[in-house]
Amino acid sequence: MVDPDRKPHAVLIPMPFQGHIFPAVQLAIKLASKGFTITFVNTEATNYQISQAHHSPINHDIFSDARASGLDIRYELISDGLPTSYDRSRNDEQLWYAYLYLFSTHVEALMQKLLLTSPPVTCLIADTFFVWPSTMAKKLGLTYVSFWTEPATVFTLFYHMDLLIAHGHHACQENRKDTITYIPGVPAIEPTDLMSYLQLDIPPMPRQMLFKAMEETKGADFVLCNTAEELELETISALQREKPFYAVGPIFPVDFTRSTVAATLWTESDCSQWLDSKPAGSVLYISFGSYANVSKRDLEEIAYGILDSKANFLWAIRRDIVSTDEPEPLPKEFLEECDERGIVVPWCCQREVLSHPSIGGFLTHCGWNSVLESIWCAVPLLCFPLISDQLTNRKLVVQDWKIGTEIGGLGIVSRNEVSEKIESLMGGEIGDQARKEIKELKKALETALSPDGSSPKNFDQFIEDLIRQ
Ligand code: UDP
Repeated sequence: MVDPDRKPHAVLIPMPFQGHIFPAVQLAIKLASKGFTITFVNTEATNYQISQAHHSPINHDIFSDARASGLDIRYELISDGLPTSYDRSRNDEQLWYAYLYLFSTHVEALMQKLLLTSPPVTCLIADTFFVWPSTMAKKLGLTYVSFWTEPATVFTLFYHMDLLIAHGHHACQENRKDTITYIPGVPAIEPTDLMSYLQLDIPPMPRQMLFKAMEETKGADFVLCNTAEELELETISALQREKPFYAVGPIFPVDFTRSTVAATLWTESDCSQWLDSKPAGSVLYISFGSYANVSKRDLEEIAYGILDSKANFLWAIRRDIVSTDEPEPLPKEFLEECDERGIVVPWCCQREVLSHPSIGGFLTHCGWNSVLESIWCAVPLLCFPLISDQLTNRKLVVQDWKIGTEIGGLGIVSRNEVSEKIESLMGGEIGDQARKEIKELKKALETALSPDGSSPKNFDQFIEDLIRQ
């Protein structure tokens, strides 16, 4: 616990995406439990969506229960630069423009106000993808803690973008096939396992955002990462030679059946009764996360592949998975034929679902939270990465840890491959091997999170170093 007379006050600002908000909420709770005052900053648009999803009044304070239980977590809302009603799922230029140029002006106005509060604000904890935190923290005389919600491997690849550029591996798409062996702490990685933003020649605004964010990160005083030493020791050790880098994850409450701060952006369907009716290990859970898109063709192949397999299934699928104007993303015939073998819901409580005994496999886009949650529940993975870090996460899952297999690895996904891979994951040799490996990895994570484990130790070390600064 921190000395109450020197109580640190951190302003914590997550990127307004589901996969970033949840770990940030948990980080806020962990820090507040150690005696910090936290001011958690959400965007108005995110808060509006959360309020709608949870049928709460607009401007609902997601931390009211945490505060009632004695934690000093304050809650502030700011504009991200676009009207609340703006459709952010379009991921268009206006959104990139807002993140690049408008968001920071709203943050700074709030920070000026917060500087007058008590206890005095001492540090800014902001998502690594923001383009302004180091500059702003310096201007306001605060410590900047960069919060990275993806694996350390992904962090280090972005961090060493200059090396990739110098070796001609940046935006090289199909042109380079040689293995990358020069990134500190990354033994060997194929160009096709890089994050999509490093493989492709991305449009100027996202590119600018990525480069600026990494430049800002180089100015961070500390980096907190939602991973564990037990998962990526070599990479983490190499990063620690560059920066004060702390592996403090997985940052989630260890009991997945316990409800936590309600911060999901969509209403959760209750699937427990249906899951209860299915035999242990018989259900394939499918989700492609909160923002990635799938092509109509691939989605159809996956749907028919699922039907052709014998597995029971629970598919959490957003309506905008294919595109925003598609009223029903799944083929009509699929919906008609799935009968009692499967259910389709728009969104569910994934952690609860994964921890249900009937779940035997997870067909996933390989978002980092999904990977961590699946390891925690010892559910082997069938990987279908779509964008961003998901491609690199797939490499960790399939090649390094051997806790799953993949579909579409040859660039094209077919219903035959999907049904065969489901069968082998749920009941075949691949599944047996992956289940064995994932049980071992879960044990390693349990060790990491035990009271004397690496993650709590690193967390305490971070607090000590931050206070001493
Ligand atoms: N999630 C959920 N219900 C769903 C789908 C996803 O609660 O129906 C949660 C999931 O548990 C995870 C987060 O949303 O914590 C998604 O984060 P991830 O990093 O896996 O993927 P992203 O959405 O960032 O691509």
